[in-house]
Amino acid sequence: MSTILDGKAFAALCKENIAAEVERLAALGHRPGLAVVLVGNNPASQVYVRNKEKDCKECGIYSAMYTLPEETTEAQLLELLDVLNHDNKIHGVLVQLPVPKQIDPQRVIEAIDPIKDVDCFHPMNVGYLTQGMPRFAPCTPAGIVKLMEHYGIDPAGKHCVVIGRSNIVGKPMSLLLLQKNGTVTICHSGTADLKAQTLQADILVSAVGKTGFVTADMVKEGAVVIDVAMNRNEQGKLCGDVVYEEVAEKAAAITPVPGGVGPMTRVMLLENTLTACRLQCNLD
Ligand code: NAP
Repeated sequence: MSTILDGKAFAALCKENIAAEVERLAALGHRPGLAVVLVGNNPASQVYVRNKEKDCKECGIYSAMYTLPEETTEAQLLELLDVLNHDNKIHGVLVQLPVPKQIDPQRVIEAIDPIKDVDCFHPMNVGYLTQGMPRFAPCTPAGIVKLMEHYGIDPAGKHCVVIGRSNIVGKPMSLLLLQKNGTVTICHSGTADLKAQTLQADILVSAVGKTGFVTADMVKEGAVVIDVAMNRNEQGKLCGDVVYEEVAEKAAAITPVPGGVGPMTRVMLLENTLTACRLQCNLD
């Protein structure tokens, strides 16, 4: 039977350390602050934003939530970001994606001051990451690396196969695994024989967004399987890409959904807010 990589339990432990660090910074006169902006009524986004607020409260981070109507213009949003960029109580700024169609997400990403870009989406921060000297951790991939480290899983010398090449998950995941000396293959919808690739994986990361996508016949015996996806099945239940029961029989270790990658993503946002605070206040 495989080891369950319990992101929920480890995230709770991480949050205790974060809360202690928040109090240390606050005692120096700098309480870390995070601003989260939500535009429109996307129900999934509303849940994510509420969770971010809850996490901040739990750890003592000052949080400012901005909920803007669906019809907000790009100019109005950029104006708010400019205010937040100049607010010294706020060290991290993020806009929950997706934004409504009248707003160009790339302009939004580039309007956030890179030193406050706790999602690590700004091209400058992606550049630092690509050069192997990340300023901020891309939340989901960095949370996965932290979880693997906690369980003693080292990508060095391993064949890592990442399914998905999005800017949020697949690409930064590949870069972090590369930085950890993994040998990385990136797969996507144009990959010719996906199964031939996934069967090579010592570490398999699936970030596709399709329920039931990764089946046991695609997984090598003893592999580590990381399921990033957060899909809803026909009953509305949260599930990943991986057919958990059958893959768990073969894998050495596996993340559950929920309770695997998701809680670690949330932790890394808090960590990045602390990093942003330390950078902006010249603290160690
Ligand atoms: P995305 O932008 O839709 O990317 C999906 C990727 O899967 C694309 O690169 C796509 O390839 C690839 N793909 C689609 N069909 C494929 C196929 N048949 N074979 C191989 N590759 C295929 O999604 P995302 O933002 O990366 O998110 C992926 C999943 O992770 C979603 O379920 C999302 O909800 C979840 N997620 C979870 C967290 C968390 O904290 N747990 C955070 C972020 C995202 P192409 O590039 O060729 O189209």
